[in-house]
Amino acid sequence: KKAKFPFIKTIEEYDFSFQPKVDEKLIKQLSELNFVGEGKNIIFAGPPGVGKTHLAVAIGVKAAMARKRVLFFTAEELINNLISAEYSKTLPQYIESLSRIELLIIDEVGYLEISKASAALFFKLISKRYEKTSTIITTNKPFEEWNEIFGDEVIAAAILDRLLHHCYPFFITGKSYRMKELFEKGGEK
Ligand code: ADP
Ligand code: MG
Repeated sequence: KKAKFPFIKTIEEYDFSFQPKVDEKLIKQLSELNFVGEGKNIIFAGPPGVGKTHLAVAIGVKAAMARKRVLFFTAEELINNLISAEYSKTLPQYIESLSRIELLIIDEVGYLEISKASAALFFKLISKRYEKTSTIITTNKPFEEWNEIFGDEVIAAAILDRLLHHCYPFFITGKSYRMKELFEKGGEK
């Protein structure tokens, strides 16, 4: 199975001077992938355009090049896959197959609300991977608002608890790089 990245970007292409809140040293250290063998997670949180997906992809590409098993999903795709697996009574097998993925990237958690039933499926996956394999999450929502995403306070807390236990969280609060590009292009003749 191929990782299906939405685009290919590298750490070298990330302009850390534009986003000084991002700890460049830590990102470079994480891109050496030691966290992957240790069942640790990364969360990139922040508004649109700050490079959350870029950084997640860049680390994912490194992992794929190091021949780790890597998969990339948007939260929406992953939830839909879990729902259809349950519908076709293959959920245990599907979760089992995902639990063998050394680095699972789940992009855009929080853009869409998830029903309580789907949140329970997502929780099953996260518990199965807990302390064994690594997950990178990107989200536009602060953790206090995760109960709104998952439609249930208890499930949201249980998901966050496991994700955050061994985790490198990045809170990126800077400006959108997309806007920077837009304004620069706008200024060009
Ligand atoms: P997010 O996922 O946070 O919404 P993206 O990672 O999709 O943002 O970034 C939007 C675009 O801007 C992408 O093309 C990405 O490569 C680029 N980008 C974002 N931040 C930076 C940065 N600091 N340096 C270079 N390119 C960046
Ligand atoms: Mg993104």
